[in-house]
Amino acid sequence: MIRRMTGFVGALAVALMAFPALAGSEQPPLHVLAFYSTRVEGDHVEFAVQALKFYTETAAADHYSFESTTNWDDMNAQRLEGIQVVLWLNDSPHTAKQRAAFETYMEKGGGWIGFHAAAYNDSSTKWPWFVSFLGGAVFYGNNWPPLPAWLAVDGGSHPVTRHLPARFLSPDNEWYSWKPSPRSGDHVTVLVTLERSNFPLGLKDTITGGDVPVVWTNTKYRMVYINMGHGDKIFSDARQSRMFEDALLWVGGRN
Ligand code: ZN
Repeated sequence: MIRRMTGFVGALAVALMAFPALAGSEQPPLHVLAFYSTRVEGDHVEFAVQALKFYTETAAADHYSFESTTNWDDMNAQRLEGIQVVLWLNDSPHTAKQRAAFETYMEKGGGWIGFHAAAYNDSSTKWPWFVSFLGGAVFYGNNWPPLPAWLAVDGGSHPVTRHLPARFLSPDNEWYSWKPSPRSGDHVTVLVTLERSNFPLGLKDTITGGDVPVVWTNTKYRMVYINMGHGDKIFSDARQSRMFEDALLWVGGRN
C-alpha cells in the first residue's frame, strides 16, 4: 500500500513537471479586472493599451484570468464577485455609486493596483476615503515633459520590488509629487522613491525637490500604487515590467 502511494505521488510529481499548467491550476484562484478610460489624456490611453497587452501576456504565463472594461459602472458588487484584483490603469471612479462599491470591495479584502492618474486627486475630487486609502497622498505637482528618472528601491526584499536593483533609471514618465507625502501615512510602506539627484526634474513644469515616493502600499489594504503610467515608454524596461507583474502576483496572494 505504501509502495503504491509513493508510486502515485512520484507519478504526480512527474506529471506536474511535464505539465506546468497543472501546477498552476492548484494555486488559489486569481481573476483580475482592469478598468480604464479612453476619453482621457492620449498619453494615458496609450499606457493603458500597452498595459492591457502586458497583463494579457503575463496572465497566460502566470495562470490567472484577465479581463478589462471601460465601463466604470462595472464597479459594482455583482461584477466584482470572484474578482481578486482590480486594476485602474488611467482613471478612477467618478460617481458615488462606483466609489461606494469600491470601498466595500476593498474593506472586504479585495485587491487593487492603481497606476499614475488613477491616484490623482485634488480639492475637486471630494473623496476623503480614497485619500486615506492612498495613505494621505494628495497630488501636488508634476514634471513636464515626461522624462526618465533615477529611482531608489526602498523595499529591496519586498515581494513587489525584489527583482529590482537598488537603483535604476526608469523610462520616460510624468512623475507626480504629493503633499502630504504618502510616507507620512500611518500604515504606508514606501517601496520606490525618486532619487534627489533628479531634481530639478522637468522643463515646463518642474519637481524641484523633496521626498517623492513613486510606489507604495497602504498595509491596511491589499493594494499597491504605482506612479508609472504616462506614454509609450513605460514597458521599455524589463526590470520595471517585472515589478508590475510582481505587484499583481503579490496583491493577488500568489507570493
Ligand atoms: Zn500623465
